[in-house]
Amino acid sequence: MKKIIYMDHAATTQLCPEAKAAMEPYLDREYGNASSPYSLGTEAREAIEKARNTIAGIIDAYPEEIYFTSGGSESDNWAIKGFAGEKKYIGGHIITSKIEHHAVLNSCAYMEGLGYDVTYLDVDDQGIVDLKQLKDSIGKYTTLITVMTGNNEIGTIEPITEIGNIAREKEILFHTDAVQAIGQIPMQVHKMPVDALSASSHKFHGPKGTGFLYVRKGIEVPSFIHGGSQEKGKRAGTENVAGIVGMAEALRVAHSHMSQNYRRVLRMRDTFIKRVMAEIPEVRLNGHKRSRLPGNVNMSIAGVEATALLVLLEEDGILASAGSACTTGQTRISHVIEAIGVPEDYATGTIRFTLGSENTMEEVNRAVEVLKQDVKLLRQI
Ligand SMILES: *Cc1c(COP(=O)(O)O)cnc(C)c1O
Repeated sequence: MKKIIYMDHAATTQLCPEAKAAMEPYLDREYGNASSPYSLGTEAREAIEKARNTIAGIIDAYPEEIYFTSGGSESDNWAIKGFAGEKKYIGGHIITSKIEHHAVLNSCAYMEGLGYDVTYLDVDDQGIVDLKQLKDSIGKYTTLITVMTGNNEIGTIEPITEIGNIAREKEILFHTDAVQAIGQIPMQVHKMPVDALSASSHKFHGPKGTGFLYVRKGIEVPSFIHGGSQEKGKRAGTENVAGIVGMAEALRVAHSHMSQNYRRVLRMRDTFIKRVMAEIPEVRLNGHKRSRLPGNVNMSIAGVEATALLVLLEEDGILASAGSACTTGQTRISHVIEAIGVPEDYATGTIRFTLGSENTMEEVNRAVEVLKQDVKLLRQI
């Protein structure tokens, strides 16, 4: 079997062995419902609360500020649908950016359908949101600002502190989708002007279908799933004990190796970018040069169809992405690439490699060599 070189860590990551081992008992003999009073249940309850403590400790939050969800999409939906209505104005106003994940954009579109106004902030050519436009769009009815921490397609890290400070000054809630940032860059929520934050386990080597929403203490949290009293009655449903335990363990592992991994992945990313820019003509790097997630390489290659390029790369075992995973299958120019103004002849050749700690420099150099050959081939036909 041909060896896979997995370079699509922004789409998902492999479950780490520590998380798998931590989950195992809860998939097997520890099958209790955490709401049951006997020890099989209370042990599950204790495991959930221990996981909550672990996660809170890592992101510098209080355990009671962590709400478990089914992942990033649910956390984003909850924050937007829940908090936009926080001030109870009918037809309130939400501010977001043009380059958010679809979990945010489509939640905002849903709110528009309910009569809310939504401002979609422009970004500059490196993907940084327009702070002046943000200030100018705040109005009397603005109830929520939601801007992501790190972009899943182009890797740009947004000026979250500045955005949060603007929100604070105007007493508007600020939510950030930190799904791509958690486990990659330090996130200390109590030191940040952030009121709510979304995270997803499978983006940091935890299991799929689990995530959390952080909500700052003192902010009233609207119920999202109505039913039983789980998650303080805000998010009903029997807890995914194994998923929660696995997520906490994955985050613990990611965090304990974060600075070494950051440096390693950054070196690989920079080598990747430098080589491609030097060795393949007519390539543009997308995203910010410095304020960028460590593993993100996103570029637009003129004269190439990204979907065809992906097929050729896969023949050599290299797995990458054309835009975000949710929009592949069709060479549609992604909303992010459009927002940063990539010219048409480049835009259709947009490809994303997202590196992780299991990648090696050898794999990076191999990927560059294969990419060079494949681009050359596609440009000939
Ligand atoms: C993956 C991702 C999501 C969705 O998370 P799921 O757990 O897959 O629902 C949301 N936002 C961003 C930025 C993402 O990368």
